[in-house]
Amino acid sequence: MAPQTLTENPFTLGVASGDPLPGSVVLWTRLAPRPYQVGGGLPPTGSVSVGWEIADDDRFGTPVQSGTVAAPAADNYTVHLDVRGLETAHVYYYRFHVGQWTSPVGRTRTAPAAGAAVSGLRLGLASCQQYDEGYYTALAHLAREDLDAVLFVGDYIYENAINAQAGARRYTDRPLPAVFNHWTVTLDDYRLRYALGKSDPDLQAAHASHPWIVTWDDHEVENNYAGDISQHNDPVAQFRKRRAAAYRAYWENMPLREAQRPKGPDMILYRRFQYGGLAQFDVLDTRQYRSDQAYGNGWNYPGPESENPARTLTGAAQERWLLDGFHASTATWNVIPQQVVFCRRKNTTAARSRLSMDAWDGYPASRQRVLAGAQQAGIGNLVVLTGDVHVHYAMDIKKDFNKPASPTLGVEFVGTSISSGFDGVDKPADWPTMTAANPHMKFYNGRRGYVLLSLDAQRVRADFRTVTGVRNPGAPISTAASFVSEAGNPGLKRA
Ligand code: FE
Ligand code: CA
Repeated sequence: MAPQTLTENPFTLGVASGDPLPGSVVLWTRLAPRPYQVGGGLPPTGSVSVGWEIADDDRFGTPVQSGTVAAPAADNYTVHLDVRGLETAHVYYYRFHVGQWTSPVGRTRTAPAAGAAVSGLRLGLASCQQYDEGYYTALAHLAREDLDAVLFVGDYIYENAINAQAGARRYTDRPLPAVFNHWTVTLDDYRLRYALGKSDPDLQAAHASHPWIVTWDDHEVENNYAGDISQHNDPVAQFRKRRAAAYRAYWENMPLREAQRPKGPDMILYRRFQYGGLAQFDVLDTRQYRSDQAYGNGWNYPGPESENPARTLTGAAQERWLLDGFHASTATWNVIPQQVVFCRRKNTTAARSRLSMDAWDGYPASRQRVLAGAQQAGIGNLVVLTGDVHVHYAMDIKKDFNKPASPTLGVEFVGTSISSGFDGVDKPADWPTMTAANPHMKFYNGRRGYVLLSLDAQRVRADFRTVTGVRNPGAPISTAASFVSEAGNPGLKRA
C-alpha cells in the first residue's frame, strides 16, 4: 500500500535494536495504527516501504546510512533491518519514516571489533513482564542506565487470559478490549499480546535506549512446555501448530536477524556474541529441545527419572555448540544468558529434599556435562544469568552442590522480574529455609527489578536493583545488594 494512504500514526509500538555484532546491529519497528486490532489497522496483504536513517547524533544532521526497507503484511508489518558497515563499539541513533509520520528516535551501540581490548562492559539483565501483574516501572529505570546492552532472558509476554478485574494495573485508566480476555493460541492471539506489551511506554523507552539481546522462556508459548510437550499433554501435532504461531509472533516482534526466522515450529535462537577479548555471551534456549520434565512440572524429589543421563535440557546439538564454544573461547569472561535456575536449590534443609523439576535441578546430567565441558576447556570465569523465578538470587556454582567445600566453578545471577508476581517482598516466606538449605546461595530478594552487571578484566559485579512496587506506577529504584566475583578466583563477595 502507498505510505500516503496512512492516515493515522503507525509508530504506536516504538522502535528497538538488538543482536549487536562488530559494526552491525538489527533495527526494528512495527507499523500498527490500531495495535489492539487484529492486523493493526492495516490490510491483510501487501507491504509498506519504510524509510530509515542511522546517525551519530539524535538530530540526524548527517545520517551515516539511510534507505528504505519493506514492512510486509506477512510479517505483520514489522521491520528487521540488519544494518552493516557501521563502526565498532559505537553509539548510533536511528529512526523510521512513513509518509508524514516519523518514529520515536532509538539509541543503539555496536559490538567492539573481534579481539579488541575492551576496558569494561555494563549490561542489564531483565525477564518476566506479566502485563496484568504490574507496571513496567523497572524498565523505565533500566532505560536510564548507561548500558552496552540489555539481556532479556524470557517471559516477554504471558499467554494467560487477562482478566481486567483482577489485574494490578488500574485498567480504569486504560480499559483493555475483549481480545485479551482469552488464552493465546492462534497467531493473531500472540501478535496481539506483543502489541499489548509493546504499547507500554516504559518498555518502549527501554528498547529505544539500548540494544537488546533476547531469548525466550516458556510463557512466550505456554507455561512449562518442554519441546513438543505442552503442560497438559495436548496432542503433539496441535501443540506444534501453537508453537509455530508463538515462535512466528516472537520473531516478528523481536530485533532478530533473518537467521532466527522460524521455519514452522522450529527456530534457532541459541547464538553467540563476542565483546572483544573481554566477554563471550552464549545465549541458550532451554525450552525448544528439552526432554519433558521428570515427575511432573513442579517441585519433587529427584530420582532415577530426573537423573537419567539420556535426558537433556539443551538438546544434543546445542550442548555440542556450547562446549565447542568453550573450547574456542579466548574471552576473559564466559557469560551464559539463559532461562531457568542453574544452581541446586533444595527447599528444606533435609538431606533428601524436593527440587524444581523445571530448572537445571530436574536435568542434573545436562548440568554436569556443561560444567565438565567448561572445566575441560579451562573456562575459569563462568557467569550464568537467569530469569524465570521472579526473585533475585546470587549463587556460587559448586562442583558438588552437596559439598560446600568443593570448588566454586563460577557464579550465577538470577534477575527477579520486571512485573510478574506483583509487588513482592524483600524476604519471601521461604527465605530462611532456602538460604539455610543452600549454602552457595549468597543473596535472595523478592522485589521486582533487574540486575545491573558490570564486567572488566578484574571482576564481575552485580547490582541487584529493586523497585518498591508495581501496582502503582512511578516507584523509585534502589540497589538492594551488590556482589563481585574476581577473575581467576570465582566466588561471590559483597561489594
Ligand atoms: Fe516468568
Ligand atoms: Ca518462566
